[in-house]
Amino acid sequence: MPNAASQDPTQSSPGLSGELPGGLPGRHDGTSPPDRASSGSPRRIIAPHATLDYDLLVIGGGINGAGIARDAAGRGAKVLLVEKDDLASHTSSASTKLIHGGLRYLEYYEFRLVREALNERERLLRIAPHIIWPMRFILPHSSMLRPAWLLRAGLFLYDNLCRHMTLPKTRNIALQNEKAGQVLKPDYVRGFEYSDGWVQDSRLVALNVMDAARLGADIRTRTRFVAATRHENSWHAIIEDETSGACTSVTAKAIVNAAGPWVAELLHDRLDIRSRNAVRLIKGSHIVVPRLFDTPQAYILQNPDKRIVFAIPYEGRFTLIGTTDIPFDRDPDHVAITTEEIDYLCTSVNRYFRKAITADDVVWSYSGVRPLYDDHSGSASAVTRDYVLDLDHAAAPVLSVFGGKITTYRKLAEHALEKLAPHLGVLRKPSWTADAPLPGGDFHRSAFGSLVADLIRILPTLDRSTATRLVRNYGTLAFSIIGSDREAPGLGALIGADLHEREVDYLMDREWARTPEDILWRRSKLGLFLTPDDVTRLQDYMSRRERTNETATSAVA
Ligand SMILES: Cc1cc2nc3c(=O)[nH]c(=O)nc-3n(C[C@H](O)[C@H](O)[C@H](O)COP(=O)(O)OP(=O)(O)OC[C@H]3O[C@@H](n4cnc5c(N)ncnc54)[C@H](O)[C@@H]3O)c2cc1C
Repeated sequence: MPNAASQDPTQSSPGLSGELPGGLPGRHDGTSPPDRASSGSPRRIIAPHATLDYDLLVIGGGINGAGIARDAAGRGAKVLLVEKDDLASHTSSASTKLIHGGLRYLEYYEFRLVREALNERERLLRIAPHIIWPMRFILPHSSMLRPAWLLRAGLFLYDNLCRHMTLPKTRNIALQNEKAGQVLKPDYVRGFEYSDGWVQDSRLVALNVMDAARLGADIRTRTRFVAATRHENSWHAIIEDETSGACTSVTAKAIVNAAGPWVAELLHDRLDIRSRNAVRLIKGSHIVVPRLFDTPQAYILQNPDKRIVFAIPYEGRFTLIGTTDIPFDRDPDHVAITTEEIDYLCTSVNRYFRKAITADDVVWSYSGVRPLYDDHSGSASAVTRDYVLDLDHAAAPVLSVFGGKITTYRKLAEHALEKLAPHLGVLRKPSWTADAPLPGGDFHRSAFGSLVADLIRILPTLDRSTATRLVRNYGTLAFSIIGSDREAPGLGALIGADLHEREVDYLMDREWARTPEDILWRRSKLGLFLTPDDVTRLQDYMSRRERTNETATSAVA
């Protein structure tokens, strides 16, 4: 089983010459980007004197890059994080959103991963109580599938692998006696109820990046890492602003390659480093349908192919159903659900629930590509979900992240910095993220209701559901959206559903939101509720605001 702590594949790199990777000619001042990465748009090259020096260049604004950038910035490193699209545009917004040990990984004997993930579950529930919360899961027993004794043994292990479990433990249930059992077909009479956690995955990324920025990290979204040349003690890299086409050259003492599905391509093609590690790209898709049940629990459904599918209460009015496991060999920038996947997910649900669903019920779907560490397993479901950190320190170091889970991102970041520390003095400082709340998460989860009440007290016109949504998304930072006591509290003009201008301002100013999609599908899931007219209004408001800011900036200049 791969293990972050046990693997240290170090290969030397030929990329020490004055050529950019891939044999493309380049100068060390980085002013001549290689054509192979050209997006076709004209480039404005920033002069060599504009070179910026960093300790660490983190490539990738998914959860792993975000977690590493935050941890490193908190240890005093000068960090630059570049993300070619929006934060969490790819795998880190396409997950099932579970903060979990991974019950099914026990079947593959992944005890290290499950133990680490269960311990992380407890920590993450503490440091981000607004965007991560406990959830109970109903596991119906089917006489045709895994025997009840095996499920009971697995769940016993699951509860006990966690060092200090604060969540309620597993219990056996007679489904006909439970409200949660009433929605299931009468064939299912017994089952189990166990605990795990739920996360707003893309918000977890945004909060880590916000904290990294608070600690001094330079965050550049819509900025692509183009290529780098390697020297004994530093990397000379070129990054490109995807909006303007402007290229900037930067130096960094070390690089973290957290490019998710692009990790191997980036290592080979853009850094010119050979590694014996590889990724297996496995697509997973989800569908969202109108609410199938009104109980708070989620369901974990076993399929005859031994896979499992979750049905989870989602955004109040919906049920989230997923996922699939499909080998993927195309461009990870373009990934979408197929009709076969929709049918598979509907069939899984229809096997268990009284109320049947069809493709016509699907109101939204999303797909992502898991960048799994390739352990040469036969089936997609069997490929390890553990991670491997590949450190090459033949000259200036580069650390690449293969695999991983949202749940283990914080621990992965600690392991990554432990590996880099001997090569980057500033990282030798102790780890600090285990108990440090993420932005807005500085409260105990039992205080959630009183935060909602306080928000309504300050702004009595706020309805309870909007106040709850604001605390769910922003925690204690919700107060800065509605305004402090000195300003007139308020949310500004309504844009659509319960989205108002002040929240948009906050997301643009504090969370790098640039387009309606950033706000509607990543910083929130309000896309499920806005009409096309609302989206146009949002686009107009954002463009107007962007223009006002540009005018203000040029007036100052
Ligand atoms: C269907 C599915 C379900 C899942 N469910 C769960 C779950 O329930 N719980 C859980 O814990 N985990 C889950 N996972 C796993 C988890 O989502 C991933 O492990 C995690 O999101 C990977 O994060 P990452 O940062 O490595 O990759 P990504 O989120 O893909 O981030 C990599 C980023 O690098 C950027 N990038 C690439 N190349 C460049 C470049 N040249 N310059 C600049 N930026 C670049 C990309 O744009 C991208 O945003 C699931 C995954 C999938 C696909």
